[in-house]
Amino acid sequence: MSALPTDRAWIELDMESLRRNVEILQGLMPEGCRLMPAVKANAYGHGAVEVARELNALGVDAFCVATAAEGAELRESGIRGTILVLGYTHPGSFCLLRKYRLTQTVLDSEYGRELSRYGYEIHVHIGIDTGMHRLGERCENIGRIIDVFRCKNLVVDGMYTHLCAADSGDQHCKAYTKMQVEAFFELTERIKEAGFDCPELHIQSSYGLINYPEIKCDYVRVGIALYGLLSTGEDTEKCGLGLSPVLSLKARVSSVKKLEAGESCGYGLQFTAPCDMKIAVISIGYADGIPRSLSCGRGYVLIDGKRASVIGRICMDQISVDVTDIPYVKRGDIAVVVGKSEEAEISACELAEGAGTITNEILSRLGGRLKRVCV
Ligand SMILES: *Cc1c(COP(=O)(O)O)cnc(C)c1O
Repeated sequence: MSALPTDRAWIELDMESLRRNVEILQGLMPEGCRLMPAVKANAYGHGAVEVARELNALGVDAFCVATAAEGAELRESGIRGTILVLGYTHPGSFCLLRKYRLTQTVLDSEYGRELSRYGYEIHVHIGIDTGMHRLGERCENIGRIIDVFRCKNLVVDGMYTHLCAADSGDQHCKAYTKMQVEAFFELTERIKEAGFDCPELHIQSSYGLINYPEIKCDYVRVGIALYGLLSTGEDTEKCGLGLSPVLSLKARVSSVKKLEAGESCGYGLQFTAPCDMKIAVISIGYADGIPRSLSCGRGYVLIDGKRASVIGRICMDQISVDVTDIPYVKRGDIAVVVGKSEEAEISACELAEGAGTITNEILSRLGGRLKRVCV
């Protein structure tokens, strides 16, 4: 017997929005380019299996994940197509790559040799460092990159780089991005000249696609934009693409009570009622991914289309909010933490701004205790 998914705190996925976002982003992509959605970190908190299933149904047949375990989970759930692992896989987990037919990123030429020594055929995309200086073989090391093509057990299906300043419109960042893109294509020319078939190429993530749609590649690795947002509220508004958020976050009211003037509420006596008040306790907390930094009036929830501000400190499993001005609130009512309630809306961008971070972090930290419900 399993609990009602909406009994405490849950995520609602608006698949219609996901479908629309896919169309909008495909509209930006050059002819022949395909989506390779980033469904790492449980699809940025949305639920990797739910999201990848829907995308598979829409004809999307390539995904990227951060870890081999994430890839294995998708395969176990019947997801078809290429699943590219972007991050490090320890040799002890190479068996997952083989068992689940995952494609591994070659982090540098040395790692390519390590993968090849495993002794079984592994499909790979070579990561190329064109200036982010995170993962990837340096683009100037052409000899070493060619060595990867020569590794006996590796099947090189692709080659990619990652842009580190594509989100910014400032001159230095634009020039840097241009340099990265040119370095990547220069490398692919040299590889061809050396007599190797150039495999599938990809460069852009969300900002790369939106700000540099003219780049011609085989894939775009889009994450945050697919979920209907960009990293900040300002960027989301400015991009003007009409993306819509896929995720809503909701929780039940577990208790409603009166607080008399002078009484305090929550840990550390951080809130004292200035007058007689009515408060509601909401069954969601920082263990579910709500940033604790939204405590003490910095965060809100919506109940019946009205804003109720967080009072006192956010707890691990609960939040108290001021509902003095919201009539008829009762146990079992639904509070919207992210999403719409009647005419009102709280976006993940607003939470991110309040917590001093980006939407990507807010979403990807939404916890495993939340149930995912497709609507
Ligand atoms: C996470 C990630 C992406 C997706 O990034 P978004 O900004 O969410 O679109 C693409 N490529 C790599 C290498 C990543 O790590």
